[in-house]
Amino acid sequence: MTAKTVPVETFDLVIFGGTGDLALRKLLPGLFRRYADGQIPEDSRVVGVARDTLSDAEYRARVSEALAAVIGNEPVLQAKLAPFLARLGYHALDATKDEGWQGFADELLAHGDRIRVFYLSTSPGLFVDICNRLRAHGLNGGKSRVVIEKPIGKDSASAAVINDAVGSAFSESQIFRIDHYLGKETVQNLMALRFANILFEPLWNSNYVDHVQITVAETVGLEKRAGYYDTSGALRDMVQNHLLQLLCMVSMESPAAMRADAVRDEKLKVLRSLRPITAEDAAALTVRGQYRAGASNGGAVPGYVDELAALEAGRTDSRTETFVALKAEVDNWRWAGVPFYLRTGKRLAERVSEIVIAFKPVPHSIFEQTAGPVMANKLVLRLQPDEGVKLWLMIKDPGPGGLRLQHVPLDMSFAEAFGVHQPEAYERLLMDVVRGNPTLFMRRDEVEAAWKWIDPILAAWETMRDSPRPYTAGSWGPGAAVALIERDGRTWHEDAA
Ligand code: NAP
Repeated sequence: MTAKTVPVETFDLVIFGGTGDLALRKLLPGLFRRYADGQIPEDSRVVGVARDTLSDAEYRARVSEALAAVIGNEPVLQAKLAPFLARLGYHALDATKDEGWQGFADELLAHGDRIRVFYLSTSPGLFVDICNRLRAHGLNGGKSRVVIEKPIGKDSASAAVINDAVGSAFSESQIFRIDHYLGKETVQNLMALRFANILFEPLWNSNYVDHVQITVAETVGLEKRAGYYDTSGALRDMVQNHLLQLLCMVSMESPAAMRADAVRDEKLKVLRSLRPITAEDAAALTVRGQYRAGASNGGAVPGYVDELAALEAGRTDSRTETFVALKAEVDNWRWAGVPFYLRTGKRLAERVSEIVIAFKPVPHSIFEQTAGPVMANKLVLRLQPDEGVKLWLMIKDPGPGGLRLQHVPLDMSFAEAFGVHQPEAYERLLMDVVRGNPTLFMRRDEVEAAWKWIDPILAAWETMRDSPRPYTAGSWGPGAAVALIERDGRTWHEDAA
């Protein structure tokens, strides 16, 4: 079954960094799928930009290679490859030099007043240059939009520099700060579960919710991103954006409507309600870790520092955290006293991203001890892999004999049941940019509020001067992360089904 799609208006999408990893692995496959589904009008164009001198044909060949894994043996997709590639062009440009920009702008403007999306899939160090040049060449008009990727800075001050630079060329309504976690099917489903059902919302507060867990675990190590990652670390790379955005989606009040600013206003209120983690309580509320050698993805892997040394000659030490666990509190009426446990890391036991809403236990059990324990309900939203939603319930063990209880998951993942292809987050988000719908993108004040909460944690870690706690690659992080939650009489969720 094919999901229903509504075609978007004709557009030109320019990918700065069109030969890079993100473009070839996510953006172009996402665009191809939308094209294959008939959502992209035939006269739309995608233009890759990078410094490498490539002809259109050479660029198409590179993209074709990148799409091979998406297409596989599906004849329908194979038939769409050639017409999709025909929509692609390439322009060699150095974002930091004026040369070639006039010709690039003339070529785009010759196509008239159409939607133009500029996707900045380059290092953030180039955002200022690119935006200034787009403005200088008149490419920032009303129908233009600019998409910027994380990291938006490494603290409040550097985020402000990026936002100012982009904001001097484009108005806020033209700027799409992407956090691809918000485009995931399960995150959309969280909105539907919460606000299109009467069942959950009355329970969605400190009277019934015991705590919330958000886990984003990766099995990969540094990959090729040593230069960036070692100056960032897990708190900046994952918590400031993805995990805090998920926390907002779980805990925000109902927006008045599913309109961009209504949703973003509610998320902003959450970010501003986060209790600050100060230098005094950072040691008790946060855990930093760094992986040592171990086993991951079925093989032996080196520790973080050795991996770093192999990628960056001369490196013998690093205090960068590859794991963070922390306990956050949302200081408002709805969530007072409900801890939000967040954890994320590299080289962990499993690749999994999930949100767990752990409800309180029933106030009193009427069952005999022989029935077994009455476990608390849990709603588990899995973002990856196998996106889906499970509601853990107590039921009677089926069959004759004495009444025994069982804790079982009710699988509420309907996309699979309907046989619908679950779109990748980038597919949905790219089409939202073309439509000019910023609901699932971060507004400037959200990014700023998130950094305002993160900055004091970074400062506290700086003054602590200790090193991240070691953990073995392939484990669930340092023991202190387990202690962080078990101290409160709770445990990290493990999906037993
Ligand atoms: P990448 O593989 O290093 O690609 C960078 C691209 O920028 C290349 O196409 C490069 O081509 C181009 N480039 C570099 N300098 C340029 C210049 N002066 N003028 C024009 N183009 C230039 O990086 P990436 O992994 O795709 O990441 C791109 C951005 O997305 C980064 O900000 C990253 O943090 C963010 N991001 C990436 C991922 C991911 O999965 N990869 C995920 C989330 C966010 P030339 O060298 O030929 O110019």
